[in-house]
Amino acid sequence: MEERPLLMIPGPIEIADAVIAAYSTPPPSHVSADVIRDFGDALRAMRAVWCADEEAQPFVVPGSGTLAMEMAAANLVDPGEAVLLVHTGFFSERMGEMLRRRGADVTEIKAEPGGAPDAAEVEAALGSADFKALFATHVDTSTGVRVDAEALADAATRHGALSVFDGVCATAAERLEMAAWEVDVYLTASQKAIGLPAGLALLVASDRAMKARESLGSLPPMSIDFAEWTPIMRAYEAGKPSYFSTPATTLISALRVSLEDILRSDLGADHGMPARFAQHQRAADALRAAWDALDLTLLPAPGLAANTLSAIRYPAGVDATMVGSVRERGVIIAGGLHPDLKHTYFRVGHMGRVVGEPERLLRTVEAIGLALAQHGHERDVSAALDAVERQLHA
Ligand code: PMP
Repeated sequence: MEERPLLMIPGPIEIADAVIAAYSTPPPSHVSADVIRDFGDALRAMRAVWCADEEAQPFVVPGSGTLAMEMAAANLVDPGEAVLLVHTGFFSERMGEMLRRRGADVTEIKAEPGGAPDAAEVEAALGSADFKALFATHVDTSTGVRVDAEALADAATRHGALSVFDGVCATAAERLEMAAWEVDVYLTASQKAIGLPAGLALLVASDRAMKARESLGSLPPMSIDFAEWTPIMRAYEAGKPSYFSTPATTLISALRVSLEDILRSDLGADHGMPARFAQHQRAADALRAAWDALDLTLLPAPGLAANTLSAIRYPAGVDATMVGSVRERGVIIAGGLHPDLKHTYFRVGHMGRVVGEPERLLRTVEAIGLALAQHGHERDVSAALDAVERQLHA
């Protein structure tokens, strides 16, 4: 067993040694040549990772995923404007609360935990009022549910609404084509599949989203205003120093390393983002085969399970103390998060470097299988491990 426990929660995640090396340096000046180069390269790499067009504006701001959500709400929506929220769990709830605090008139279409509103419902809601924007959580980390972001963005565009996605638990792992799908804002944080520690809020805005900020009546808080940050981002991309608020220099250098690594994802003839998405799909399929072999049931309804994490119901007779038993076997997983049913399921993150490390996936399955047996749910753990191997090599 490795000495250090393996971190298999849905963020923060195991990260690359090269990324750790990149941020483990004495802090450089934010206007040093190296930081300017790394910042510019990171912004260009973001467009590639988001599959965004040249007009799209990337932002890297010190902060959390929550801050990135706030930035989206405050830069697009004026008090009194109508927005539609596709609600799939804990983080959608947070988005709704933020929008209400901004003064927006929020209409929610809400699914039961583990579900997602269906396309017809979204379509009908969009047709029922003149919404400024549709907000959705691409993968809600509390339920492990992934919405069909392509279909939602398309529906929003057809109804003349902007589309905004919280991609904190999806970016750089779940398929996203910001330009092709005409997504307007897609935001994330550094501590999940981006492969960094927490500390950076990352957001890409379309040209339409930038125009929405320009025509806003009520200014956003200064520290998250697109208008304050845009000249800074543009200066760094042009290789020039600039200052509005001190950037997280060492994390930005690490971001460049991680994004360039993500873009190099290489599986046979495939490369770049398609390979990266396929790698996450394959690992998720392999783990789902293991959960099946262990006689476990997922929280998400069929077809809605994300590739970045598994939300798994405790089998009969097993409770949340099982998470501690997995920890004793050297693997850290997470308990439930959705307030309505958090004591009924656990969560396993599978994003970033571990999806290319079969031995760590197997170690996770083994620890979970043995801990479940210890708690009375005894199943054939070697069959689960075989299922993983088979899927990974399929
Ligand atoms: N949205 C989603 C989908 C998340 O998973 C998280 C964090 N788990 C957040 C938003 C908030 O991010 P942070 O904790 O960095 O504020």
